[in-house]
Formats: sequence, structure tokens, C-alpha cells
Amino acid sequence: MKYFSLLTNVNELRIGNDSSKNIGKEIGKFVVSTMEIPWGIVKNKIGESPEKVINVTSVELSWIEDQIKKLPDFDTILGIGGGMAIDVAKYIAWKLNKRLISIPTILSVDAFTTPAAGIRKNHDVEYLGEATPNPLIIDYDVLRSAPKELNIAGVGDLFSIHTASFDWEYANSKGKSEYPFKAEAINGGKKILEFIYDNIGNIKANNNNGLRAIVEAYISLNTICLPIDHFRIEEGSEHYLFYELEERLKRPFIHGNIIGLGIYLLSRLQNNDPLFITEMMNESGLVYQPLSMNIKKDDLINSLLNLKEFVKSKDKLWYTIIDDSEINQEWIKKNISELKFN
Ligand SMILES: [Zn+2]
Repeated sequence: MKYFSLLTNVNELRIGNDSSKNIGKEIGKFVVSTMEIPWGIVKNKIGESPEKVINVTSVELSWIEDQIKKLPDFDTILGIGGGMAIDVAKYIAWKLNKRLISIPTILSVDAFTTPAAGIRKNHDVEYLGEATPNPLIIDYDVLRSAPKELNIAGVGDLFSIHTASFDWEYANSKGKSEYPFKAEAINGGKKILEFIYDNIGNIKANNNNGLRAIVEAYISLNTICLPIDHFRIEEGSEHYLFYELEERLKRPFIHGNIIGLGIYLLSRLQNNDPLFITEMMNESGLVYQPLSMNIKKDDLINSLLNLKEFVKSKDKLWYTIIDDSEINQEWIKKNISELKFN
């Protein structure tokens, strides 16, 4: 890969079939941050037993701090699982200055390639600390033991470059960008999208090339976003709909899927090639329909009607197309007409 670079927070990448095998034999005393299902998949492969297993049920800071108090002496923390287990591992590695190893068991979120831990303080997301996986282990066999939709969901946070970059360019054109505008960052994002479009069949098939494409795209995204210290090319209005829905419905979602729904709707609000990005999402097999996430039509309508006010009430959210839009009943009716509901 031309723009595949390890000049990111990932020190070393081990990628291949069975690449997590016997990792436990080379890392000293270790503890594991995981959940029941991923741990069941990996525990017999790693070759040694941990000093302790943290069964992650929360990413609230107070919960994590309680776990830290109960930890024995150790050298390395292994994050094994999806976003939450790896975020907890990252936070603990940073807080206690320990070696971090990440073994994602699904690719549905990019937690395994980003340095900060996405944790919650009184339910609000905060990105804390800085931790570098050494190594990041991408084990194709482990990933393929998960339902393939959970890996395909990984493209949600990559397709979001389509709408988020538009938002950044839009904000900049209005003199409202929170950061110095960088055309190179936007162009780099476009290259990542093209790379994903080129691999769309592999991604849908959940084969090695498809899994590798998602990982490489995330790492490339970091090479762009870490030096400028923000993810504005990848996070914009499509994420804000998710934040509104999450606050409204008070339940978790598979991140990439709900972001896909945001891309579907916000690309339409932006008049930003919605049919093309929708086709790409369809071809990738991304599960973004409200029906599959059990989102009721009325809830989505109310969320969209409230979206502008929601964004304005949150100081931390950036300027996007939402700030200058009138999302009314008529617009909603027209734009949700082809979405599937219960
Ligand atoms: Zn995201």
C-alpha cells in the first residue's frame, strides 16, 4: 500500500492468520481487559494465563478507576474485544504507564488505532490519555469468528469522511472552522475513501483483503488526523445525529451502523452526492437501516426535528450543515421515505 504508513500511534502491527497465537509468552505478567464473548474466542490462543481478567461492563471513568484499585502487579495490559474493552485497556495502560497490546475481535470501531481512550464522565464521551499498542494484533481468524456485519460496520467511520469533510469545507467557507483549514487533509481523506471503494467487494466478503483494507484505512486516517490533532475530516453532522439518538433512546448502537444512517440522511441534507454514497454503503453490506437497529419512525423524526437545537446546546460540537439548515416535517418525510422501519 502506497499510503499505508506506521508513522502513527501504532508502533508495530502484526497482521495475518493466527497472529495472536502465543502472544502471552512474550509479554511478562499481564492482565486482560475484555468481555465474555471475545475472551472465549482468544483465551486458548494466547498461550499463557493472565494475572487477572477485567470483564468490561462500563466505560464510566469511576467504574474504570474502581477496577484499577483491584489490579495485581503486572507488566502488560491486553485489550481484547471491541471498542469498550480496548478503550478501558488504553486508559489503564496510560494511567499506570504499562505496555498496551490491542487485539480487536471486531472492526466496528476504530478504538484500536487511536491513541486516546474514549471513556464516559457522567455519560458524556471524553477522550482521555494517550496509549500506543505495541503491538496491534490483527488476527484474521479471530476477526472472522465474529458475525461479519460487525467487521463491515468498520466502514461506517470511514464512509463518514464523505459527509464530515463536506462539513469542514462548509464551515470553512462560512468562516466558522474551529481549526486552520487544511486542503491536504481533505485530499488525504478522499484517497482513503477511494481505497475503500476499490475494496468494497472484499469488505462485503469479509475476506483477508477486506479486513486489511479497513485496518489500513484507519491507520491512514490517523496519519492525517493525529498531526493536526482533530478528526474533523471524519467526524461531523453524521455523528451528531447519532449523539442525538443516543441521548434520546438511551441505549448503545453498533457504531458504524448508526453512523451509516447519519451518512444516509446528512449527505441528503448537504446535497452531497447522496445516491453515490448510499450505493457504496449498500455494496459494502453496511447495516444502516432503522429497522435493523430497532429505531422507530417517530423517534427518528423527533430526533431530526430536534437535531439543530441539540447541536447548538452542546458547546463542543463543531459547525456543520446542521447549523444553517431547516429540518422540517416536509424535508424529513421526503428523505426518510426509502428507509425501512418496523
Ligand atoms: Zn465515529
